[in-house]
Amino acid sequence: MPDGAPETTLQDLRRDLAAAYRLIALEGMDDSIYTHISARLPDGPEGEKRFLLNPYGLRFDEVTASNLVTVDESGAVVDDPYGAGVNAAGFTIHSAVHMARHDAVCVLHTHTVAGVAVSSIKEGLLPLNQWSAQFHDRIAFHDYEGIALNLEERERIVKDLGQRNLMLLRNHGTLVLGRSVAEAVKLTLNLERSCKAQIAALGMGLTPVVLPDDVAEHTASQYARAYDAMEESGRPDPEWAAMLRRLDKYDPDYKG
Ligand SMILES: [Zn+2]
Repeated sequence: MPDGAPETTLQDLRRDLAAAYRLIALEGMDDSIYTHISARLPDGPEGEKRFLLNPYGLRFDEVTASNLVTVDESGAVVDDPYGAGVNAAGFTIHSAVHMARHDAVCVLHTHTVAGVAVSSIKEGLLPLNQWSAQFHDRIAFHDYEGIALNLEERERIVKDLGQRNLMLLRNHGTLVLGRSVAEAVKLTLNLERSCKAQIAALGMGLTPVVLPDDVAEHTASQYARAYDAMEESGRPDPEWAAMLRRLDKYDPDYKG
């Protein structure tokens, strides 16, 4: 980050994470009270790891900046203003990813119909359009083993993810890492559009035009440079600001 650039304050991080829950709900991408979006807090004075997570039992459209729960890497509650605890079992994948990937501020997991459908086919996401070309050769896969609760599977998830920022959890859903909450949401929305477009294109029963590898790779590099420039600039993200204004218009109490 360049000198003089404003650092994201903790209050901004809480607001952004609450906004992420609301936006995912607004897009119809939530799954009852399940799946999570987590954010990494700065380490405590003793190096303690701290993360923000949604209160257990709340819908995504009920999450606010002030009711987010602080947990440690095991999912144990450190601070819980709402008082309902967290779904510690649901945090296990997030914890494993956060502990392995310190570059990720936000880990966003969904079970959308489109994301689950594309995760359930052997070919995964095809470079059929501009949205999906940005993810060309950048998606990791993890085979389904049942609900991910045990330590050994967490190690396999981390190994399968490697240094990639997107993963299709086979027969299960999507997992996206962002250097900011904004980046995680933007990638997730583009991944969702990609999955929906693939289902629509392949559902016509006609012949799909799959982009050649070199065009898809060129497109992915263009997107990557744009994402890098945004994250490294330290400047406010205009697309994220636009998304927050959408919430301010339709669902403003996320900030409370
Ligand atoms: Zn899941």
